[in-house]
Amino acid sequence: MKHQETMLNTLIKENGLNGFSHEEIGDDHIYTGLETPMKENAFDISDDRKKEKIEGLFAQIMDVMGLDLTDDSLRGTPKRVAKMYIDEIFSGLNPANKPKVALFDNKYQYNQMLVEKNITFYSNCEHHFVPIIGKAHIAYISSGKVIGLSKLNRIVQYYAKRPQVQERLTNQIAMDLKATLQTEDIAVIIDAKHLCVSSRGIKDDTSATVTSYYGGVFLKSSKIAELQNYLNE
Ligand SMILES: [Zn+2]
Repeated sequence: MKHQETMLNTLIKENGLNGFSHEEIGDDHIYTGLETPMKENAFDISDDRKKEKIEGLFAQIMDVMGLDLTDDSLRGTPKRVAKMYIDEIFSGLNPANKPKVALFDNKYQYNQMLVEKNITFYSNCEHHFVPIIGKAHIAYISSGKVIGLSKLNRIVQYYAKRPQVQERLTNQIAMDLKATLQTEDIAVIIDAKHLCVSSRGIKDDTSATVTSYYGGVFLKSSKIAELQNYLNE
């Protein structure tokens, strides 16, 4: 066993993951799990301390690239980036920022699918730290409980505000909705553009990536067709 593990480690060391290097894995946007990979001690330091540290480190990156940080235009950039990372574009890493969702009884007895479409979101690719811009479409059938429509939007934004890969973003939203709405009858479709594909690397400006999650009754082709009809309207 020990010998096997050592052999495996040597194999990974020599050949990378499945024969691919970490660089290739990142460029092909292969993701490793449903949970955002976080350190055990991710929240041992405060947001303020994180901002201080990022400010210093980002200043170093700019300095290494040869930028003159005494220039009036650049002087405030490290602080702005740090604040933007922690308070805005990566605020979804902190569970304290998870939207509070109240459930209501389905008083109207509406028992068909509810579709909230074209929820615009901005996320960032975890392999390149450049934007992913897209639209999420969500559908669910009430199990007797409903949530405010704006909450569907907020749940999307919360998971988008993390370094992400689109497959994980899709599944994280779906798992949250399943738990929150207490139903398996959930569909999530995400259509997004990855700037790491359009502005660098392969530089394909026209392609988009579509991912989906279908659970419960949404696994039936008739329900998928109905949903597609609403989305095409
Ligand atoms: Zn990327």
